[in-house]
Amino acid sequence: MSDRPLAGRVSLITGASRGIGRAVALDLARRGSTVVLAARTAAALEETAALCRGEGVEAHPLPLDLGDPASIEAGVKAALAAAGKIDHLVNNAGVTADGLVLRMRRDAWDKVIGTNLTGAFDLTRAVLPGMVRARYGRVVNISSVVALMGNPGQANYCAAKAGLIGLTKSLAREVASRQITVNAVAPGFIDTDMTRALNDEQRAAMASQIPLGRIGRPEEVAAAVAFLIGPGGDYITGSVLNVSGGLYM
Ligand code: NAP
Repeated sequence: MSDRPLAGRVSLITGASRGIGRAVALDLARRGSTVVLAARTAAALEETAALCRGEGVEAHPLPLDLGDPASIEAGVKAALAAAGKIDHLVNNAGVTADGLVLRMRRDAWDKVIGTNLTGAFDLTRAVLPGMVRARYGRVVNISSVVALMGNPGQANYCAAKAGLIGLTKSLAREVASRQITVNAVAPGFIDTDMTRALNDEQRAAMASQIPLGRIGRPEEVAAAVAFLIGPGGDYITGSVLNVSGGLYM
């Protein structure tokens, strides 16, 4: 098999300014894919783009806000103008706004559902027609093990991530006949800015519940995404791949 199996392909990755999204972009770039890098922070997207270009591929930063449908629509137009097509979509961007349901304000609910679930829906809907015409496409939605387990203090986040799994399975059934696969990856506890917000004691408590005994690395999630997008994933659709060190099994 070629060591650049994704040469000639274009991958759009959201949340590519840091963390898991940056690791996914770099992994796909190493496999030869052109990458389109979406998030709100242009300067950080430029950094990811420079890393990807170092792997010998084209990289297009695409500043956009998933909370704003007009920004998504304009972003997809700009991505198509820059890269010509979108073969792979990784809906990775996500935010948290934690709190117990009894105290959770409606704006915290709306923000997390709006970015993590509705943003992914809007972007997928905008990208899908090109995949349908091409009779080829790969969509990977980054969910979370808490979608499957629940987590006190994260009802909004868990609902959004569980919603992504429902979206994944329904869309997988809708577009399978067009040779488009749709899968979800459910990370456990991964070392990024999102989890660095916890203190050392909280991180140690979390690690102690993980059968493999450690927090995961963004690159380990990226490898799972790349597997689903690459030739190894050709016959996999509608699945949820847990990358959690056994936290959920
Ligand atoms: P992170 O370091 O906080 O990165 C989040 C990314 O999402 C950033 O690139 C951010 O970019 C982007 N983003 C946030 N709001 C956005 C918006 N409105 N429009 C466009 N982009 C937006 O988080 P991470 O840990 O890498 O997480 C990546 C994904 O994995 C998320 O969906 C998260 O829920 C999921 N996940 C993470 C863990 C974990 O333990 N870390 C576990 C399970 C699932 P800007 O701020 O530049 O916009």
